[in-house]
Amino acid sequence: MLPCPHIVLSEQAGSFGRGSPSFVIADWLSPRFFLMRNALKHKRGISPSPSGNRSFEPAQTPASSLPSLRQAAASCKACDLWKTATQTVFGEGSSHAHIMMVGEQPGDLEDRTGRPFVGPAGKLLDQALSEAGIDRSDVYVTNVVKHFKWSPAERGKRRIHKKPRDSDIQACRPWLDAELAVVKPKILVCLGATAAQSLLGKEFRVSRQRGQIIESPLAPHVVATVHPSSILRAQDDESRHSQMQAFVQDLKHIAQLIKKK
Ligand code: SF4
Repeated sequence: MLPCPHIVLSEQAGSFGRGSPSFVIADWLSPRFFLMRNALKHKRGISPSPSGNRSFEPAQTPASSLPSLRQAAASCKACDLWKTATQTVFGEGSSHAHIMMVGEQPGDLEDRTGRPFVGPAGKLLDQALSEAGIDRSDVYVTNVVKHFKWSPAERGKRRIHKKPRDSDIQACRPWLDAELAVVKPKILVCLGATAAQSLLGKEFRVSRQRGQIIESPLAPHVVATVHPSSILRAQDDESRHSQMQAFVQDLKHIAQLIKKK
């Protein structure tokens, strides 16, 4: 039998602990659970975790709500990013939200506060949502990676954002799948290339395909646009303004989809 991909990932990530997403979430992601359980039976006793934890059973309590997922994710060590970050930054919003927006990873302020999209990019997102007529309480925000990846600045104490590797994204994917399974958004919005390519494939180009409705099993409507942080990096006010207008326009189309639901 082929091992479940999440077992392979967990092995690569060096974690078979109860806090890893593959285990906590598996109870109710049933197809994955059965694959995993069969693979575990096959593997048990052969591949102990580096930490020496040989208790490979899935968590006893099904993580079927956002609070329980958030609590479980707080102790996740399925990849190395937890070592240098302050805390897990889980998604935030209502489990009844019609829209889920997915970015790349938490930034410096998100890492310190433990909340997604509270930094400058989050504030710009809030402004754009308001201009597009989307009720912020109808949006669940999260990231494909839940820990802040950074490197120290050459001078000073600043922490510089570092792009997550594919292996980081894959290790963290079960948490995002779990959020999707609980929230069941009508519209999934990928913010930026990292989120779009991790959810829609490596060939996806936000520059060419932004705003298009993409067929996907992830949600009835899936669409990608830029990450608001890219607007903050615009070279001058004029270009920042035009990028913001284009972003708001994408969000207005999303608002129309919500009205049609
Ligand atoms: S980035 Fe994701 S998979 Fe890696 S330790 Fe954090 S929560 Fe776990």
